[in-house]
Order: sequence, then structure tokens, then C-alpha cells
Amino acid sequence: MSDPVRVRFAPSPTGALHVGGARTAIYNWAFARRNGGTLVLRIDDTDPGRSTPENTAQILRSLEWLGLDWDEGPGVGGPFGPYFQTERQDHYARALERMRANGTAYPCFCSADELAAKRDLARAGDGVFGYDRTCRRLDPAVVAARLAAGEPRVWRLAAPENRGDIVVKDAVRGETVFPAGTMDDLVLVRSDGSPAYNFATVVDDATMQITHVIRGDDHLSNTPRQILIFEALGQPVPLFAHLPMIWGADGKKLSKRHGATSVEAFRDAGYLPEALLNHLALLGWSLDGETTIVPPDVLKMQFSLERISRNPAVFDFEKLDWMNGAYLRALDSEDFAAQAFLWIEAAGLAPAGDLAARHDWYLALASLIKERIKLLTEVVPAVRFLFVDRLDIDPEALDQVLAKEGAGAALEAVRQALASLESWTSEAIEAALRSIPESLGVRPKVVFQIARVAIAGSTVSPPLFESVALLGREVTLTRLTAALCLATP
Ligand code: GLU
Repeated sequence: MSDPVRVRFAPSPTGALHVGGARTAIYNWAFARRNGGTLVLRIDDTDPGRSTPENTAQILRSLEWLGLDWDEGPGVGGPFGPYFQTERQDHYARALERMRANGTAYPCFCSADELAAKRDLARAGDGVFGYDRTCRRLDPAVVAARLAAGEPRVWRLAAPENRGDIVVKDAVRGETVFPAGTMDDLVLVRSDGSPAYNFATVVDDATMQITHVIRGDDHLSNTPRQILIFEALGQPVPLFAHLPMIWGADGKKLSKRHGATSVEAFRDAGYLPEALLNHLALLGWSLDGETTIVPPDVLKMQFSLERISRNPAVFDFEKLDWMNGAYLRALDSEDFAAQAFLWIEAAGLAPAGDLAARHDWYLALASLIKERIKLLTEVVPAVRFLFVDRLDIDPEALDQVLAKEGAGAALEAVRQALASLESWTSEAIEAALRSIPESLGVRPKVVFQIARVAIAGSTVSPPLFESVALLGREVTLTRLTAALCLATP
């Protein structure tokens, strides 16, 4: 039986969580869930200048917002902690000790200036870059003395000299062969004692018993080096799955130029987490080549590494908008109302607690706009007129609708018809308003548009009769009276 699946998502908290990282997290999460495995969240905070607790907090928030949970890591702990690399010094020290003892690591005392000179020389000569292994050839007694004297040094991998090609076995890319001779004696531990990325990653992946490394293919060139470190430590090499890049529509790596890229920017732009998750899941993976709606529950039942594509995936903002609309429409009114309320409250239009107090009213509001929007940012503009005390009428609507001859007469008729209504339901309101056009000899559309501008301040609004019902009798009649003063008789 194979080992239980253990995967990790290992962000560096040097910035916000971006969609590329989020997709890596999603694939790791789905793979762990699909296989009854464990997802480890590890914070790769070894870059002291750029790693901040605020970035870590934002990454965790973004993962939680996306609905991704982890089994070990910050907030939940676990048997392989700590889960911050800066707290794992003793693991790195022990691993280095083991590599020293078996001769796969050695100290290098070359100064930065010496290394630069060597690089220049190499560049001018045979074109082989990388360290020339001067310190690897030092006499052991000399090494011991220089170490004892506390001379500044880094620790390097003694890359094997007689090893055959390094074969990276990758679930997405098949086998990639790297000639062993191209591997240099890379730095494992810097002169300040901090571990370099490749070393820390391998030590952690080994000690955390990671079975599959799923990450962006920008790390592919690191992988043969990491394999050498796994071997030097005598640890099994995990299976790799390198994910294709995400491109913008222009075929360039997705960046800010293309639009929002951080997960929180998408949240703030009105996307539902499920829609973003779905869209990201399909960037490089497919369920069957055609299904576009793949909710989280399906993803975690069906995800497989075999269906990841090697080709770059294009982030399609239009498709995401469409998808978000589909997810919004699929929400039941209760859930939609809750989402809409968050935006309405954040805009300062409704007091906290209003949703519970006016539950049915919000449900009616939800059904009014649910089918009509693609982004949650559209909620507030669509319903603002229902909340404001003083309605500002759009000047263009005023000019084109209320200033037309006969608008005043129509408004007066509307006001009278509504004032005498016995029950304030959208059906009763509709019946009352439909009786007006004929008696005035104008088209229904014209009367409804006049009423719409009077009550919503604009020529575009959610459906009229339902809007009037939600607005309530008192406010509606006040607005009609106010509009009468502006309308041409
Ligand atoms: N901290 C690395 C990154 O954010 C992780 C790379 C890896 O998965 O090995 O790119």
C-alpha cells in the first residue's frame, strides 16, 4: 500500500496571495481531499526583509475566504510543526549536520569579491557558470582550523560528481532529464546561518513527510537541485506536479497590467469565492474537457493530477464574470440576501441587524436583483434608491422623461391610483398602474418610465412594480409628489 497522501502549500509571505498561488493552493487542497490525505500549510518566511506578519495574515484570510481548509499549519498546529520556516532552525541545523557527516555538504570561505571574480573568469572562458569548488578541495585540517577560527562561510552542497542524469518524475510533464554535470555546488546555508530556499524546502518536505509536491512550473529548474539534497539526506524523493503558468489574454504572464491579481482584489470587486475558485480550478485542469461549472464539492471528489494540462492557461476575465453571474443566480434568495446585505451595510445604507429585522423585505429585494447582476458590486447602485432619504434625480432622466409634456398629468394619475390602493403588493400596484395608460391615451411604457424616474431617480432600475412595493406607500407617494413639482404638466 502506498503512503497516505501528504501535500503542502508553502507560500512566501512577501506579498498578498495572488491568483497563481491561490490555484496552487486549490490543487493541493483538492488533491488532499480527493485522496483522503493531509494538506499542510507551511509559511516560507525565510526572506526576513520581505516577509511580514501582515502578509501572512492576508494569505490566511484569502485561503479562508476561498473556503480552503488545511489540516496542519498556522492556527491548527499538527505533529510536524512548527509550520513557519523561521521557527525551524534546529531542523536545518540537524540536516546540515547529517550532510556534513556524510560528506555531502562543505563549508566555503570564498568572499563575495572572490566569487564575483570567479564568475567573470568563467564567463570569459568555457561558459560554465557556478562555483568552481575551490573550498571543496581544501585540506580537512585547514577546514577545521578555519571553522574553529570562526571565519565567515556558507555551506554548500557537494554535488555528486559521478551521478548519472537527474530525472524529474512529474505527474504533469512526464520525465524531464537534467544532465548531472550541470548542477553546481549550490549554497545550502548562508553566512548569516539562514537556510537557502532549496535547502529549507527539502528539509521541510522531508521532515513533514510530503509525498507530492504540487507547485508552479517556475520552480522546475530548482527541482533537480532539490532531488540532490533529498538524496544527500537519504530521504525519499516526493512525486512532483509542476503547474503551467497563468497568462493574460495577450500571452504574457498574468500581472497587474491585466487587472486584479490578488485574491482580496477579486473579493473587493464583487466576486463570490466559489466562482473564483471554480475559475482558477479550470486554469490548467479540467473535469472532462467541457464542464465549466465545477463547484468545490465536485472538485474535491473529482480532482486528479492526470487531468492537469502542460500548456499555459489563459485567465479569462469575461468568463469569470459570466461564471460569477451563474453562481449568484444559483444562490437561494436567503444566501443572496445575506451577500447583498454585506455590501449594502458596508455602503452605509442599512444599519447592522437590519437583515434579520426586515428579513422578508430583503428576500424580496434579493429576488428582484439576483437574476440581473454579475458582480456583487452592482448591488448597491441597483438598490440605493430604496434606502436614501432624499432621492437625487439623474439630470438626463429629468430632461428626457419628466420634462416631457404630459409627464405631470401621468404622475398625478399614478399618485392617485396608488394612494387609493388597499393592499400594497406588487400585484395590486401593477394592476393599478396598468389601468392608467389607456385612460390617459399614452403607451404603458411611457407611463411606467415616468413613474420609474420619479421613484428611482433613473431610467434604469429593478422591475418597477416590485420596486414600488419594496419602497412602501409613504415613501412612494412622497417621491411622486416631489417629482410632480419638477415635471412638465
Ligand atoms: N515559498 C515558495 C514559493 O512561494 C514555495 C515553493 C515550493 O512550493 O517549493 O514560491
